[in-house]
Amino acid sequence: MRFYYAHRFPEAGVRGSFRTLEHSTKEIMKLDTLKKLYVEELRDIYNAENQLIKALPKMAKGASSAELKQAFEDHLEQTKEHVERLDEIFGRLGEKPNGKTCKAMKGLIEEGSEMLEEDGEESVIDAGLIGAAQRVEHYEIAAYGTVRTFANLLGEEEAADLLQQTLDEEGETDKHLSELAEEVVNQEALAGDEEEEEATTTSSRRR
Ligand code: FE
Ligand code: FE
Repeated sequence: MRFYYAHRFPEAGVRGSFRTLEHSTKEIMKLDTLKKLYVEELRDIYNAENQLIKALPKMAKGASSAELKQAFEDHLEQTKEHVERLDEIFGRLGEKPNGKTCKAMKGLIEEGSEMLEEDGEESVIDAGLIGAAQRVEHYEIAAYGTVRTFANLLGEEEAADLLQQTLDEEGETDKHLSELAEEVVNQEALAGDEEEEEATTTSSRRR
């Protein structure tokens, strides 16, 4: 392909492709070892967890179901422990935890906040909050799964154990939220729909 362009555009083509090659090599050089990628990804999760520490109290405040409020409060305490585990890992690595912003978590929290601003039926808002929280948990599960695997590959056994503990807790939280949705919140939200439907039928019959 490069020969083709070199033939067609001897000046611009070759220089252009070299410039691109140089540029991409430079970018890749920054993350030239799995260890560096591991540390970068840990920083990303560290930032994500700290964003959650700020967001979870707002979600707890916005939830109407007592059980859901409790679930958010409990997960806030767990999340603080997740940060402590990461601090421990960074301490052992001799690396700083700061310096990255997890854009994905920022977006997920933003979507969750939209739900908090909505005006509507309490149980419906709760169902939406659970959906937002589960998206967060799934993101964390993916992220922790990755760094746990990296830790294993790098022979960082203690870190792998700590990351696995957090991964398990994220999984449990996700499961608990599913149960809350299925057993309590969605049922109440659906009951609201049925009442609404009944009211509409009655009023249209009156006409
Ligand atoms: Fe977490
Ligand atoms: Fe979590």
